[in-house]
Amino acid sequence: MSAENGTVERNTPQSRDAERSVLGSMLRDNTVIGDVLQLLHLDNFHFDAHRKLFDGVRQLYDKAHPVDVVTLAEWLREQKGIERVFIFDFDVHHGNGTQHLFEQRDDVFYASMHRYPFYPGTGAANEIGIEKGRGFTRNIPFPEGAGDPEYLRAVEGEIVRIIDDYRPNAILLSSGFDAHRRDPLGGMRVSESAYGEITRRVVETAQRHAAGRVLSLLEGGYDMEGLAASVDEHVRALA
Ligand SMILES: [Zn+2]
Repeated sequence: MSAENGTVERNTPQSRDAERSVLGSMLRDNTVIGDVLQLLHLDNFHFDAHRKLFDGVRQLYDKAHPVDVVTLAEWLREQKGIERVFIFDFDVHHGNGTQHLFEQRDDVFYASMHRYPFYPGTGAANEIGIEKGRGFTRNIPFPEGAGDPEYLRAVEGEIVRIIDDYRPNAILLSSGFDAHRRDPLGGMRVSESAYGEITRRVVETAQRHAAGRVLSLLEGGYDMEGLAASVDEHVRALA
């Protein structure tokens, strides 16, 4: 898919509009994209075996900004040996756009933990995919005020099991940190250390099934202190 003619913008999940207003201008700056890559993605590509894949991602970033999880999933599917991609979205808002684009497919699994009911209104537990994609969408809704116990239980009891069953060749993270307890929008109580633990659990599954291939894209997070602390834990766990 072309990333230079507006396709990326069109595919942007509507639920991310608020985030894009904050991050959009930042992500359109190629230099900052480089920095975000350094922060969130590079550590998993230090190994020679991953170099080629990383170079491809890098070129994609150079061509397409902003890059979103949908573009990356499509690009990964075009790579040799990448037959199944797992997207784990832990932004507090449901990724309705991402879900919609993959809900009829079994080669890209979309799993989300989010506050529900909440903006954008989608993400009920009974949204599990359509037709061929039935069973390849998973939504884990949480009530307002959910925190570390609920999040860790869901990751250990559900997300890890789903990934072990699906055996993806690559994992993409929609890494929103707006469920952090300091966040002014999310209304949730997740700590930065829980974000680190969640990340470690996912990395372990990636090591089991995907040769350690995890790419993380920064999404929501509106308290700068909470965001910085969460990203710090997240990156340490990815490294
Ligand atoms: Zn969000």
